[in-house]
Formats: sequence, C-alpha cells, structure tokens
Amino acid sequence: MFRHLKTKLTFAYGGLLGLILLAVAGLVLASVARSAEANVRAELQATASVYERLWQINESQLADNAEIMARDFGFREAVATEDADTIASALENLRNRLSLARAFLVFEDGRALEAGSSRILDTSPAVMSAVLADDHASGLIAIGDVQFQAVSSPVMAPARVGWVIFASRLDAAELGELESLSPIALSASIIAADADGITKLPAPTKSMIQASAPLDGFGELPAGHLLLNFPVAAAMAPFRPMLVAIAFLAAGGLCALVLCSWFISRTLTQPITRLDEATRQLASGVPVDLSINSPDEIGRLAQSFSVMAREIELREQSMVKMSLTDTETLLPNRRALQNAIAEATTGEDDVYTVAIGIDRFPQIMTAIGQSATNELMAKLGARLEQHTDVRMTAMATTDVIGILVSATDGLDGVDQILSYVSHPIAVSGEMIDIELSAGCCIIGLHSALSPVDEAMVALQQGRALRQRVHLFDEQAYGDPSSTLSLMSDMVSGLSDGSVYLAYQPKFDLRRGAVQSVEALLRWDHPIRGKVSPDTFVGFAEETGHIRPLSQWVMSQAKADREIMAAAGFDLKMSVNISGRLLTDSAFLDWAIAELGDACERFCFEVTETAVIDDPKAALANIERVRSAGIEISIDDYGSGLSSLSYLKQIPAQELKIDKSFVLSLQSNSSDALLIKSTIDLAHSLGMSVTVEGVETADALQLLQGMGADVAQGYYIARPLPLANVLAFFQAGVPSIRLSAVQDRPSLANRKLAR
Ligand code: C2E
Ligand code: MG
Ligand code: MG
Repeated sequence: MFRHLKTKLTFAYGGLLGLILLAVAGLVLASVARSAEANVRAELQATASVYERLWQINESQLADNAEIMARDFGFREAVATEDADTIASALENLRNRLSLARAFLVFEDGRALEAGSSRILDTSPAVMSAVLADDHASGLIAIGDVQFQAVSSPVMAPARVGWVIFASRLDAAELGELESLSPIALSASIIAADADGITKLPAPTKSMIQASAPLDGFGELPAGHLLLNFPVAAAMAPFRPMLVAIAFLAAGGLCALVLCSWFISRTLTQPITRLDEATRQLASGVPVDLSINSPDEIGRLAQSFSVMAREIELREQSMVKMSLTDTETLLPNRRALQNAIAEATTGEDDVYTVAIGIDRFPQIMTAIGQSATNELMAKLGARLEQHTDVRMTAMATTDVIGILVSATDGLDGVDQILSYVSHPIAVSGEMIDIELSAGCCIIGLHSALSPVDEAMVALQQGRALRQRVHLFDEQAYGDPSSTLSLMSDMVSGLSDGSVYLAYQPKFDLRRGAVQSVEALLRWDHPIRGKVSPDTFVGFAEETGHIRPLSQWVMSQAKADREIMAAAGFDLKMSVNISGRLLTDSAFLDWAIAELGDACERFCFEVTETAVIDDPKAALANIERVRSAGIEISIDDYGSGLSSLSYLKQIPAQELKIDKSFVLSLQSNSSDALLIKSTIDLAHSLGMSVTVEGVETADALQLLQGMGADVAQGYYIARPLPLANVLAFFQAGVPSIRLSAVQDRPSLANRKLAR
C-alpha cells in the first residue's frame, strides 16, 4: 500500500495521534453535552418546583380571599336573598381589588353569577359536582379555551347557600413571569388533560430538553401538566466557543502532528532510502559510493554496507578477471578474446582473428611435460604481445593461442608475426625449438562460425594442406551440421549398397600387364549424388567412423579379391589405410586376422604424413603389418611434407608418386625432373615406383622412359565396380607398347596378365 517508509510512518504516527485527538475531542464533547443537559434538567426541575410553590401560594391567596368574601355579612345576606345586583357588584369590587381574572357565585341549585354582571349563568355539571364534593375545591379549570387556577369557598347563611369561586388566569403573561424567574431561557406551557384525563405531553426529542410537573384538576375536572422546554442547542451555546477552540486546536494539532511525523520520518528514513538505492545499485553492478555521517545504528549499518559493497566489488573484479584468464598460463582466455573481438570494429578487412598452434604439440608435451608446456605457451603469448600489430593475445585452447591482429599486409603480415616469434624458447633452462602454424579469419567476413572457431578450423585446414598460414576456407569447411547426418547416411549406405568399392587397375610397365588393383570407395548418395571419398573419408576420420568404414572396406576387398581370383584374376589388392588407423594397433591386429592367409596378396597404401605425425607408433605398426606379409605402399608421395629419414625407415615396397606431379607433367618441366629423381631415389631404396594420374599415352611414355615400374590412371582404366572390372579383365588388358601407344587407342590391343 505504501511504497515509501516515510509515508507509512507519517500515516502511522499522524493517524494514531489523530485518532487519539479525535477520541479526546469526542469525549470532551460528550461530557460537555452531558453536563450541559444535566444542568439544564436541574434548572428545569428547580423551575418546576418554584412553579409548584407559586401554584400553592396562589391557591392559598385565592382561597383566603374567597373565604373573606364568603364570610362577608352583607354578601351572605345578598346571596341568601339572591340579590343578583349586589352579589355581582360585590364580586366585581373584590375582583378588581385583588386583580382576579374571574370571580363567580354558584347557587346550590346550579345557577351562577359572575362579577360585574347580574346575568344568571348555568354552572357546568363538572364544577357543580366538584363543589358539592368538596366545598374547598381547588385546581385547574378550563373556561373556554383559557386555563385557570380556581378555588371555591362555601357561603353559609347559616346553612350553605352557594359557593364563591375565584380564578386566576394561567396565560402567557403568567407563564412569562415564571420563565423570567428562571436563570435559563426556558419556555413554559400548560398542557391540559383531555376528556379522558390523559395529558398528552409531546414526545421527547434530541434537540429539546423537557421537564414537567403535574397540576391537579378542579375537583374531578381533568388534571394537567406544566411543561418546561429548553433547546439542547441553547444548552450547548455557552460551550460552543470552547468546543470551537478545541476543534481548532485539534485540527491544528493534527496538521502539526502530520508535518512533524513526516519530517521525523523523512529524517529517519533518508539514510535507509539511500541504503536501499545503494543496494539496488550494487545488485545491478554499479559501483556504490555511500556516505552517511550519522553516529547511530543506521550510520554504522551504512559503514558496514560500504565495506561489504567494496569487498563485493573487489571480489567481482577478481572473479571477472579470473573468468577472463587462463589459469595455467595467466594469459587472457578464450572468452576474453571473444569479448575483444566483439569490441573490435567489424568490416575492416585488416582485422584478423588468428589461431596460432605449435606444430607437433602432442610430441612436445609428451617430451617436456604439462607444466613446462604451459610455461612454453605463456612465454610464446608474452612474445606475441610484444608485436606491434598484435592487439590482444589469449589462450584459445590448451594448445592454441588466439590473437587479434591489425595486419594491413594480410596473410603476409600474419606470416611475419609467426617469423617474429618463431625462435627457440627457454623453458626450465632448456631451449625448445618451435614451428608455428596459423589459421586466420577476417572478422565479420563469414557467419558460419565464431571468429575464434573459424580461425581454429583454418588452422586445421592449413595443417592439412601443409600451409604455415591459412585463411579460413568456408567452402572447404562445408556445412558441419550436415556432417553427422551424412555419416548416419553412410552407415546405412554400407548395408544398402549405395556405398561400394571400385577397383582401379595398376598396370605393370615392365611386364606389360595388370597385376594389382587399388580398392577405392564410392558412394552414390540417394539425394546428394556421388560423394567423393576425399569428403566422407575425412568426415569419417573426424567423427570416429573411420574404423568401422575401414573394416568394411577390408572385408569387402578381401571378398571381392576372392571373386576376382575365382574368375581367374588372382591380383594383388591395394587398400588405402587412413593415417588415423596407422597408430591404431587394435585395428591393424584385426585387419591382419581378417585377411589371414590372404595377407600376402594385400598391399596397404599409407601416406608419409601419417607416419610423420607419430613416427614411433606408426613405424612399429607398419613393421607389424609388414611381418604379417602385407606389402606397404607410400601413397601420394610429394603432395605433403617429405622427409628422407622417414622414407628410409618405412619398410615399403612401393612408392606412389602423387598424381598432381603426373597431371602437370611435360617433358622438360621441373616436375619431370622431380619425378625422375624420385624414381631413382625410390629404386635406390629398393622400392618399385607407381605413378598415379596417368591420363595420356604421352605421360605413360614419358614415365616409362623415366623408369617408372607401374602406371595407374584413367588412360589405363578408371576405378570400376567389381562387375565392370571383371568385364574389363575378361575383355583383356591392353598390351601397351611404347612405340604403339601414340598411334592407337589405349584399350585397342589387350592382354591380361595371369
Ligand atoms: P588415392 O589413394 O591417391 O587414390 C587415387 C585417387 O586418384 C582416386 O580418387 C582415383 O579415382 C584418382 N585417379 C586415378 N586415376 C586418375 C587419373 O588418371 N586422373 C585423375 N585426375 N585422378 C585419378 P578418389 O577415388 O576420389 O579417392 C581419393 C582419395 O580418397 C584416395 O586417394 C584415398 O586417399 C581416399 N580413399 C579412397 N578410398 C579409400 C578407402 O577405402 N580408405 C581410405 N582410407 N581412403 C580412401
Ligand atoms: Mg591410394
Ligand atoms: Mg594417391
């Protein structure tokens, strides 16, 4: 109801004291009213008593005078003789002398005479019965509409001959005298009883205070009441100034009270309000500066609050710092890098996010240990920070440093940064030699991934292509969301036949016959069409599907080779082995067991790069494969990094020169020179040389001239499904004689090596 404490306090104090004031004022009013009413009632009662007294005095005076008249000798004689004139005159004299309202003589027989008139009147039966019942009757009597107090006295001559009746008027003048006798301005009236003798007094009202006194009737005539009235308002009138003063005082007091309450509440709640505001600020992360100079509890609370707010602020700062720091190297972390990227101006084509990785990181970590590697990364980060183009350095992952770079020279600029930092780093007293690769992403150029992720992917893409600095290739990255569904499609493709093996013949140039085939994966995707093995084998490697895929290839190649052998073509079967599986001893053990007796009819094509990545494990596994009787072929030679020392160590029987050299081959090109020297080198190491990508007779002739042992390529045959390759064999393989090749179509003269 109340949003502010001060309003609440003002209402509480003001309301409470206001109520008390009202109650007091009410009590005062009630008690004043009660005492005023009591006073008036007492006054009315006293006035009524006075009137009763006056009534009696008047009654006895009337009675005395009537007695005097009745005893007068002359008057008695006049009554006895019924001398009307004398009676009327005597009555008149006395009435005047005594200032009586009315004076009568009533004869025994009911006739009557009034003072001043000799006319005989009839006495009312009520008066007659009253005087007959009591000679000295007295009381209220109505003559016409006017009320009178009357008394009677018998006239004896000597026996009773009549009665003298004297009456004084009870009119407004008489009652006015009574009213003037009272100290209060009451109003008096006589209420006569009705014919049944019931006096109907007006019903009491709240605005009028009443008092009444009974008046006897004359004889048996109806009685009446003296009614005294006094208005309540008049009773309260003397107190009105006092009550008005009290009301003013109460209203003024209430206002003053509310103002004081509001002021005090405000003074009290102001620091609390500021504390409240400060709490809100603190909650919303705004720094709080609270100074309440008050020695009381609130002041102390404010001080404690300030201390707490400061500590929270410090803790928050340290938490924010921690959340943006890599705990191992104390360099900023990936989130800090992302924040910096978000702040960096997008759209400028010279702002790059670069992921820098140390080549052969796992080997280095195995050699020097985790903590030394952390030191290595920290020192590399510190070195990067010193480069003027580097805006920010952070740990993107445990083995990759992310930097934000203003490289106006593009990728060359990034390459220069790598050169700037690529020299040995001292770690725990030892110098560690490092080779670096970088993946770059131009901020705001792509939206497929976050800049950091794009740079990380670019690093992997560059490593796969043996490039030191590589810009994120969105097309090569493809749509990763479809990769997983592609893989599940591939698993079903293995059973529904859309994934199958094609076989490409390898033509032995010395024997002029096909003596082996290479098994190559094919996938006719129901929706995507033909999917290249370069694509899905790569995805299978990344998603862990390469092992089941390779097991399927191995079993299928074995089965197909047996079909070929059964058809009379007992050929050597070359199978490509992923670099990932070259270090997978369990897989190789499985493959050896799977091939069993057929091991000697199989050749595993491996790439030199796969060996270079983890030479110890790879070479040991190759030895194991070799000793099982399986031949080893070094595939794609020349396409990646080549190391003569590894070439010497791999116990291979075959070296396959990558098709990229062969496809661009011309007789006097540098590629020709390279191929020639490679063929010589391989021969000197005891290996036969297969050239792949032979598409023309010229190339074949040239390569044969250079001393190549085996040729593989579209000129001889494309990779063919099992049925087609069998048909190809059955049709007879071309006997390719160099002199004839240029003149004839490749498949003209066929001969099959058996
Ligand atoms: P690779 O082992 O070097 O295979 C040779 C590639 O060259 C094949 O491509 C083949 O179709 C292609 N080729 C053959 N003759 C010619 C020619 O005269 N001209 C041209 N331009 N190309 C020719 P493909 O079938 O697309 O395979 C690509 C790569 O996929 C293979 O390269 C191999 O690394 C991988 N791959 C294929 N099948 C398998 C497999 O079963 N297991 C594994 N691990 N990798 C495989
Ligand atoms: Mg191959
Ligand atoms: Mg190859």
